[in-house]
Amino acid sequence: MADALVKDLPRDLPSFLARFRTDTQCRAYLVDVRWPDGFRCADCGHDRAWSHHRRLIEECRACGKQHSILAGTIFEQTKTGLARWFLAIYLVTSSKGGISALELQRQLGFRSYGTAWTWLHKIRRAMVDPDRRQLDGDVEADETLVGGRKPGKRGRGAAGKTVVAGAIEAAPSQTKKRELGRLRLATVASAAGADLERFITANVAERAAITTDGWSGYKGLAAAGYDHHAIDLARSWGEADQRLPAVHLVFGLAKRWLLGTHHGAVSAKYLQRYLDEYVFRFNRRRAKSPAHGFARVLQNAVRITPATHRAIVAAGAT
Ligand SMILES: [Zn+2]
Repeated sequence: MADALVKDLPRDLPSFLARFRTDTQCRAYLVDVRWPDGFRCADCGHDRAWSHHRRLIEECRACGKQHSILAGTIFEQTKTGLARWFLAIYLVTSSKGGISALELQRQLGFRSYGTAWTWLHKIRRAMVDPDRRQLDGDVEADETLVGGRKPGKRGRGAAGKTVVAGAIEAAPSQTKKRELGRLRLATVASAAGADLERFITANVAERAAITTDGWSGYKGLAAAGYDHHAIDLARSWGEADQRLPAVHLVFGLAKRWLLGTHHGAVSAKYLQRYLDEYVFRFNRRRAKSPAHGFARVLQNAVRITPATHRAIVAAGAT
């Protein structure tokens, strides 16, 4: 991340409110995020633009091309609400465990719970870095069941439960001082080999060394090119926590977070978004300032522009 975007960011609520009180202040920051080296027209290369009064558009002074600052992003429908969006993102990213939709509704004074809920989901969408690197080095992987009330059996799609696959960078469990690295969590269709492998190949670099238990769903990893170590838990009964301690630790923490901050009221349909938020928080757990998470969400919001921008153009929006 460009240092300038983080350097002067406020570290507490009073200075945040001073820095991003008006839509104009917020807009100026977004322009900096979009063009960290200064405006540059994509068509003619000119470096000066007019700022559109009502829309989030910078218009090239030379050729007239209109550059959307945030078309297709979470701010798309925003006309005057940028300061409120910024505050919402700050509240969500600076609070230690995140906040529920009900809490966001209270804090921002929304009349509708649904609005707060929708905003939170839009913010979560910008918590996934579109260019994030795959996990590497020593990785632990496993899967767990989330949600539902009845205890279920693995791999059989237990009723009401969602299979969540997890992978985390962690030195082998024999190592005394274990440093946990980055985390990935994803809902998968089942604990069958094809679904688990798809998760691993999407999230873990092929040169990584992966440790899993002996579940048949992981049997294909070596053939897929991974340095795969399977622990035979049948021969070390009851030791799963000790044999795959890192991934079990984060499964436990993530479930507690779902129960705590969100009171367990997370449907399978939206579970991935919540997992995205959990991973975002976990991977920034050592950040010195809450401003880093805030800046990252805004930067992602700008970078997920192109895909949706095409859709907007196709739809004939002006
Ligand atoms: Zn131009």
